Amino acid sequence: MRRSHHALKPTGFQECSNCGELKLPHHVCSACGHYDGREVIDVGAA
Ligand SMILES: [Zn+2]
Repeated sequence: MRRSHHALKPTGFQECSNCGELKLPHHVCSACGHYDGREVIDVGAA
C-alpha cells in the first residue's frame, strides 16, 4: 500500500450553469462555451 496515495482523485464534474451539460469545474463548458455566466468561446452553435 505504499503507493496508495498516488492515485488521482476522481474528477469532479459540475453542471454548466448555462446549458446543464456536465463540465469540469473552472473550465469553459465545451458544449456551449460559457464560463462564469458569459460566453467566452464561440462553439459555432448560432
Ligand atoms: Zn454549457
